[in-house]
Amino acid sequence: MTSLADNLRAVRARIDDAARAAGRDPAEVRLLAVSKTWSAEDVRALAALGQRHFAENRVQELVGKAAALAEDPAVPGLRWHLVGQLQRNKVAPVVRLGATVHSVDRAPLVTALARAAEREQRVLDVFVQVDLGGPEGELGSRGGAAPVDVPSLADAVAEAPELRLRGLMAVAPRGEEPAPAFERLAALSARVRADHPGATETSAGMSGDLEAAVTAGATVVRVGTALFGTRPLTSDAGE
Ligand SMILES: *Cc1c(COP(=O)(O)O)cnc(C)c1O
Repeated sequence: MTSLADNLRAVRARIDDAARAAGRDPAEVRLLAVSKTWSAEDVRALAALGQRHFAENRVQELVGKAAALAEDPAVPGLRWHLVGQLQRNKVAPVVRLGATVHSVDRAPLVTALARAAEREQRVLDVFVQVDLGGPEGELGSRGGAAPVDVPSLADAVAEAPELRLRGLMAVAPRGEEPAPAFERLAALSARVRADHPGATETSAGMSGDLEAAVTAGATVVRVGTALFGTRPLTSDAGE
């Protein structure tokens, strides 16, 4: 059995090697630990090694783990992120947590987040999620807005004073090499950045494809399995 510390070191080394190979500064690429299906205890153990940013794909799990660790003096300053589908009627607890939302994929969700952020008197960091399509170019397999809709969605986020557009997020399509998909994401990111210079982040890359994402310019990689191990098989692990 490898330890959490070994896994964290190995993942960080993969990120750093990929960044250097691409002529990038490794410090530009931040690691987001995806703790879905793992316990608050597991999160605490990784946090004790210095990891501060954690992501969940379900609101209930996000809120539960954040609450369990909120008052823990051993792991201060944890930052939470939501990387899964968000329903409009579930935005309030996410906003209350000040979680970064990586999965903004439609205009009504932008409105709901902005209203909730206004109520909570917070400014919320958000990413627009892009559907990179499948091998045949079909959309809808892994969530996100169609690329053609992304610029207007980014405009809508940028126009809401309560939301801060950080950039774009995507999951590589199944059944296709990730590199060309991440290149499409990079091109779209550059286009969005031309209108919104503050949208400097690209959230892409998971345990199996983080090198390709870093090569294409990812600034945030979202890693679960390579840190915590293989998730127990559940019907709703969110994949
Ligand atoms: C589960 C998940 C990840 C992490 O995937 P691993 O392959 O376990 O690293 C990253 N992003 C999203 C959106 C996820 O749902």
